[in-house]
Amino acid sequence: MKFPCLCGRTLSNAGSPNLTEHFLLSSVGVERLQDLINEYTAHGRFTEWADSWEESGAIEVWKCSDCQRLYVSPKDGFDKVVVYKVEQVGI
Ligand SMILES: [Zn+2]
Repeated sequence: MKFPCLCGRTLSNAGSPNLTEHFLLSSVGVERLQDLINEYTAHGRFTEWADSWEESGAIEVWKCSDCQRLYVSPKDGFDKVVVYKVEQVGI
């Protein structure tokens, strides 16, 4: 999958792993993820731990390495993507 960032750079997840795709996870989600991994590990289901990301409520975010814009949930459809742009650095 690939699409153009508003700055002109092409974002792609062709290589895996890559530095474009990230996951946004709340602290509740982190705890849920840890519990799921512990559960899978305890039962020897090591191959299933990757499913834990979705079950933990992680949100996929793509980041442009040139302009730092964030595209939230790009795989849900381009018409639903929320785009965040750096407004300020430092407070
Ligand atoms: Zn960009």
